[in-house]
Amino acid sequence: MSCELCNAIQNKNTILFEDEDIYVFLAEKAATMAHIIITTKEHFETIEQVPDYLVAWCFAISSKFSKLILESLNVQGLNLLVEVGAGAGQVQPHFVLNLIPRVQNDNLPLTWQPTKVEQNELMEHQALYKKATANRWVFEQKEGVKTTTNSPATPSNGEVIKQVDGEDNYLIKQLKRMP
Ligand SMILES: [Zn+2]
Repeated sequence: MSCELCNAIQNKNTILFEDEDIYVFLAEKAATMAHIIITTKEHFETIEQVPDYLVAWCFAISSKFSKLILESLNVQGLNLLVEVGAGAGQVQPHFVLNLIPRVQNDNLPLTWQPTKVEQNELMEHQALYKKATANRWVFEQKEGVKTTTNSPATPSNGEVIKQVDGEDNYLIKQLKRMP
């Protein structure tokens, strides 16, 4: 395995939380103080390669740590950041979710000047996204069971699936953490 994160993670002495799927550790090269990194034990290059139940788990854990950060540290906020691809600043080829505590004048350049989007451009992108997502989503569960938005909903393992009639189908799903 040539992934630097995979190679180094087991020996890190800054691990905050670990289960069979993920690691949470303090960044040694931090964006701001107390910068936390959540990552999968299995090697996945970018977020869209990570199974959905693991994406959900990473964000659930990030929510818990966010609460902890906001309650325990003298910060004004925090950012959740995932870089996908070199064009977005991703350096190492392993998915990570960054929790970056923010303090006043930390000079972290994460803001941008909003640009007004023309209505026709909005409509064009809306059509593109809607066409691409209609009835095509597959949610990966831990057991390898796949549930699609256009198949009959079969709730199992505490999962709640609701389909709404109309032009689009929506999947409302609550992932239950399996032991
Ligand atoms: Zn890796």
